[in-house]
Amino acid sequence: MTLTFAFDNSYATLPERFYTRLGPTPVRAPELIKVNHALARDLGLDPAALESPEGVAVLAGNAVPQGADPLAQAYAGHQFGGFSPQLGDGRALLLGEVQDKSGNRFDIQLKGSGPTPYSRRGDGRAWLGPVLREYLVSEAMHALGIPTTRALAAVTTGEPVFRETPLPGAVLTRVAASHIRVGTFQYFAARNDGEALRLLTDHVIARHYPDADGPLGLLKVVSAAQARLVAQWMGVGFIHGVMNTDNTQIAGETIDYGPCAFMDAYHPATVYSSIDRGGRYAYQNQPDILLWNLAQLATALVPIMGADGEAAVAEASEVLQGFGAQFRTEWLALFSGKIGLETAQEGDEALIVALLHAMSAGQADFTNTFRALGTTRARDHFLEPEAFDQWEADWHARLAQEGASPDSARARMESVNPAYIPRNHRIEQAIEAAVAGDYAPFERLNTVLATPFTEQPGAEGYARPPLQEEVVQATFCGT
Ligand code: AMP
Ligand code: MG
Repeated sequence: MTLTFAFDNSYATLPERFYTRLGPTPVRAPELIKVNHALARDLGLDPAALESPEGVAVLAGNAVPQGADPLAQAYAGHQFGGFSPQLGDGRALLLGEVQDKSGNRFDIQLKGSGPTPYSRRGDGRAWLGPVLREYLVSEAMHALGIPTTRALAAVTTGEPVFRETPLPGAVLTRVAASHIRVGTFQYFAARNDGEALRLLTDHVIARHYPDADGPLGLLKVVSAAQARLVAQWMGVGFIHGVMNTDNTQIAGETIDYGPCAFMDAYHPATVYSSIDRGGRYAYQNQPDILLWNLAQLATALVPIMGADGEAAVAEASEVLQGFGAQFRTEWLALFSGKIGLETAQEGDEALIVALLHAMSAGQADFTNTFRALGTTRARDHFLEPEAFDQWEADWHARLAQEGASPDSARARMESVNPAYIPRNHRIEQAIEAAVAGDYAPFERLNTVLATPFTEQPGAEGYARPPLQEEVVQATFCGT
């Protein structure tokens, strides 16, 4: 059983100032946590080979597979609004790229693989908690139909990682369409490196958006992809938590699961991240923050948009000005589907907003309320069910206008309103058990989340919001 990756590396052919070539730092005693069999097969990898000692050595960074060309990518980024001209992969390495059965290209990246020239004061490592959190949440996002990086595998290192206390070290193997970020463009813009910006633009267009026309065309398609992505986050109550420009990926996938969380009770101002004290990245702010991040991408691209600077600024501004309407269209289509509508009518937005207001006032669970629409259970999620009854009557009238009923809309709604999301308290319980050596809760949670739209007998507890004593108030960054 030999482990073979059919590497075909394109990023590594870009000039050397795009990255630093280096290998992972070996660890003492790697042990396998999990290999994602379905994903491995999609990528043409043998799951059994990945699980073999040779495979585990690769997943831990103790061996570099044939054809890999490991490198740390350089990027910059605005973090909480402040610009850092040099961030880069401080605890991750791109091993190389492979193609799936359909010819789509994917990065294979080790996260937690040791220090790089971009580590600054960090140790280049990850501890088990954020590795399991990213594994669970990214795979759950995928099952929910939301573009995301994936988790191919997780291993422990047999070495402690020192945070406030010593914690078990771990490495995640991440798969992404690419790891190119808004911050990658900002890195070269900050250095007035027009040649690199042009090379990066060409690379990204060839790789992700072959129909895009130049830097302006790229801005347009990235805006569209990201508008759709953030609308999808809103539709499942997802709060990314660190929407810095280095965490906004150009291919339009959810990336860098740090202190992310799904809301239980609906409230638009919800924030979980312990470092987001001002609520910059609160649930309801996500579309505005995305626009702000796209403005940074536009700023980085303007210098290569042509000789006429003023015209370039005007054209880029026009794209940004269109973002609001674009996002609203995505959001409206998505939430209309969540309440079972098949047609669009004047007043639909007001109807959706009215439900959200009632949910917020009534402390209704976001996921369970949508899932229960059309059943007698829906009203039970509200502190004052009468507020929901009023809305429900309006909703029935609206459905009737398209010849539908709550019953006839049920199946449609259940195909977009999940029964299971990775609830924060469940993730914390899975991590706590894993730290104590028991991976069963992690495995079980991962299995339940793989088919989120289908009620699974025996899994009722995974749909339950946290009890008072289970509520997780704050989530912490992955570091
Ligand atoms: P993040 O908040 O995970 O998006 O990371 C922001 C930046 O900090 C990136 O450049 C990371 O590579 C870097 N970083 C985060 N954690 C560590 C760590 N433990 N060691 C070195 N660099 C890190
Ligand atoms: Mg990041």
